[in-house]
Amino acid sequence: MLEIIRIPVLSDNYVWLVHEPESLETMVVDPAVAEPVLAEADKRGWKITQIWNTHWHPDHTGGNAAIKEATGCQIIGPEAERERIPTLDRFVKEGDTARLGDVVADVIDVPAHTAGHIAFYFPTEKAAFVGDTLFAMGCGRLFEGTAEQMYDNMRKLEKLPDATKIYCAHEYTKSNGEYALVAEPDNLALKERMAEVLTLRERGEATVPTTIKLERATNPFMRAASAEQLAARRIAKDNF
Ligand code: ZN
Ligand code: FE
Repeated sequence: MLEIIRIPVLSDNYVWLVHEPESLETMVVDPAVAEPVLAEADKRGWKITQIWNTHWHPDHTGGNAAIKEATGCQIIGPEAERERIPTLDRFVKEGDTARLGDVVADVIDVPAHTAGHIAFYFPTEKAAFVGDTLFAMGCGRLFEGTAEQMYDNMRKLEKLPDATKIYCAHEYTKSNGEYALVAEPDNLALKERMAEVLTLRERGEATVPTTIKLERATNPFMRAASAEQLAARRIAKDNF
């Protein structure tokens, strides 16, 4: 069983610290910065042995060098972005696995937000680290890819089991939900969820991880009926 800790950094990023108690390995997903991550691991008596990157953006890799310098950890990331993440030690793509002790994650290619974006899915833990591809009620902006690619990504992710926890990299839920209500004004599950989200945010609490079941019911990008509809919704959200 993995222990998964959420570390809020910068204005709205979440860095995930993941500990495997048998091997005592500890991994960081997408460290935007180093200091708060090193401090959290220290506080728990955990030694960081790995960093896993989902894509090259600085708010996901900015802490790589300093954490590696402090711990000697190994850094794993997308093969297609190896030139853009010079700190990588190992490059992976769909079909490859990454492991924390004996716990194995499958790599899934999810290009669109960036051209080489990947996700890490732990089947035995029902946990997926999706970076900036899937958010609670949202999806990543299409900086280096197409709506067709994002539509395909949603098909891959919606196949994961209902209970799969989705660890995304930003707290965007409230603004995503506000747009989602415009896209699907009659979606009752969405209205109920938004009420809960507003309560959590008023208390300053996090709204992630989410689950695949919740996203299937409330995410207007996962629910888009076609790549064309996803494209239209993405443009509308960009201008919302
Ligand atoms: Zn990004
Ligand atoms: Fe990001």
